[in-house]
Amino acid sequence: MSNQVKTDVLQADLYINGKWVSEPDQSYFESLNPATGELVGTCAIATAEQVNEAVSKANKSYTAWRNTPIPERAAYLLKAAEVVEKRKEELARVMTKEMGKVLAESLGEVGVVSATAQYMAGEGRRLFGETVPAGFLNRNITMVREPLGVVACITPWNFPVALASYKIFSALIAGNTVVWKPASEVALSAKIFVEVLDEIGLPPGVVNLITGSGKTVGQTLAEHPDVKVISFTGSTEVGQKLAEMSNKTLKRISLELGGKNAVIVLKDADLDKAADGIVKSAFTTTGQRCTAASRVIVERSVKDRLVQKVVELTQSLKIGNGLEEGSQVGPLVNEDQLHAVEKYVETAMKEGGKIVSGGKLVEELGGNYYEPTIIENVKPNDTIAQEEIFGPVLAIMEVDSYEEAMEVNNGTIYGLSTSIYTESLHYANRAAKEAVSGLVYINNGTSNAEMGVAFGGMKMSGNGHREVSYHAFDVMTEWKSIYMNY
Ligand code: NAP
Repeated sequence: MSNQVKTDVLQADLYINGKWVSEPDQSYFESLNPATGELVGTCAIATAEQVNEAVSKANKSYTAWRNTPIPERAAYLLKAAEVVEKRKEELARVMTKEMGKVLAESLGEVGVVSATAQYMAGEGRRLFGETVPAGFLNRNITMVREPLGVVACITPWNFPVALASYKIFSALIAGNTVVWKPASEVALSAKIFVEVLDEIGLPPGVVNLITGSGKTVGQTLAEHPDVKVISFTGSTEVGQKLAEMSNKTLKRISLELGGKNAVIVLKDADLDKAADGIVKSAFTTTGQRCTAASRVIVERSVKDRLVQKVVELTQSLKIGNGLEEGSQVGPLVNEDQLHAVEKYVETAMKEGGKIVSGGKLVEELGGNYYEPTIIENVKPNDTIAQEEIFGPVLAIMEVDSYEEAMEVNNGTIYGLSTSIYTESLHYANRAAKEAVSGLVYINNGTSNAEMGVAFGGMKMSGNGHREVSYHAFDVMTEWKSIYMNY
């Protein structure tokens, strides 16, 4: 932390009421590149007063924004899609520098932002109401969706802009205004996204950016009476705290939380396809995805053949700086995350696990690198089979039947994503029905969301709401019923 604003690096100030704001005594924190340790930029630490100011401006701009016809609101989103595409390369490079994912992934993520803007612009035209047959003569009953007011969007670092775009664009098209708190690790990427929203000429106060301590900003937003909705993506632990804090003012809260996703491989599966899906799901984004596969549950008779294929593919992955051509696995986001991964691997060894690939820091590269790691002989109740690791560690578990596999799959507190590889129509259909998770993939890895398809988890992976599709309006709007006697 420092009070000094450096001029030779990027700087993220707060964005309140259409202006970039910095007080003379504003404190800043440093954003470091996890691949090199270099300073990427400095980001403002908002005070509680500044958070309150952002909420107040968002609240003030709400009436005019909700009264702006939807096609006009949609036009802003379509413009945002264009400008984001123009700044794609710049934004993607800053994302890679801030949190380490390889450039191709960052570019793909920026593409999701423009696709979300376009999708939500279209959905605005379909914010239909309902008519209900009246029980009395000469009466009409209609139900309409209405916006709620100020929406606080709180987002994690692993998808710096895509997750924010799901929240911000669905909030805006529905007629709400926004205060956005991005993760501190990626505040500079957030700044560029907000520059785009500034460039398209959104009215002042409609979107505000607040960076700084999750605890201070989060608590102020959660307790503020004028914040009507909290849309949060992040860890289950923080989600639970936010839910408790926001309960006092009866806010609506949408929680997208952690996962402990599994790939089930039955003995009749195409093992080459399964191995490919497993490796992509486990090690893309260095395993730092809520939908990353961190468990493989395989029928005993094909375990050795499957593990051999998974190990071969894993060992062919190129670890390196995400900005370098050819890198496939970047660094972990920070040293804490790196040490957490080291500790999980140590614990797995103590509990009887056996490393079949990886298991070490990659010290020669200098950044927060850890080898993609595969551990077999893991039992369903072992620590690495139960807790979210959020790193490149894959646990292999053997079972004797589909039924046992599904029991192990469902035997954690989480329920985000389940995948099954099988040629059997019977087991594929049973898995679709019996997996207790918000996403089920048949003959595909665990991590592959498409626009327009409801995204979210069951059990402790969320609180029942969904994003990425029009179902987001169940959070971003509320129903009003109108009785008219004529
Ligand atoms: P996190 O620590 O929970 O942080 C998420 C956001 O909450 C950040 O903006 C953070 O700000 C803020 N925050 C931290 N403490 C807070 C508090 N006491 N009150 C209010 N806000 C607070 O999660 P993360 O490490 O950024 O992201 C990883 C987690 O996100 C994993 O568990 C992953 O599974 C989950 N995730 C879920 C999904 C999904 O859709 N289900 C998608 C992606 C990620 P600071 O950065 O300033 O601390």
